[in-house]
Amino acid sequence: MAEEKKQIDVQCLECKNINKLSEDDAKVGRWFECKFCGTTYEITGVKPDGSLELHPIEEEK
Ligand SMILES: [Zn+2]
Repeated sequence: MAEEKKQIDVQCLECKNINKLSEDDAKVGRWFECKFCGTTYEITGVKPDGSLELHPIEEEK
């Protein structure tokens, strides 16, 4: 039986586009980069409604 991979919708805080992350990548402590605007986020938590809490990673210059 084929295992169905669950995808998590994550809305970018900057550009409001929806990124699809695999369930494995949508875990607290993981980072992801918005494929639309390139902003990098750390996933800091999961809200009661199942959406992810994001913390933008700012590059140090
Ligand atoms: Zn974005």
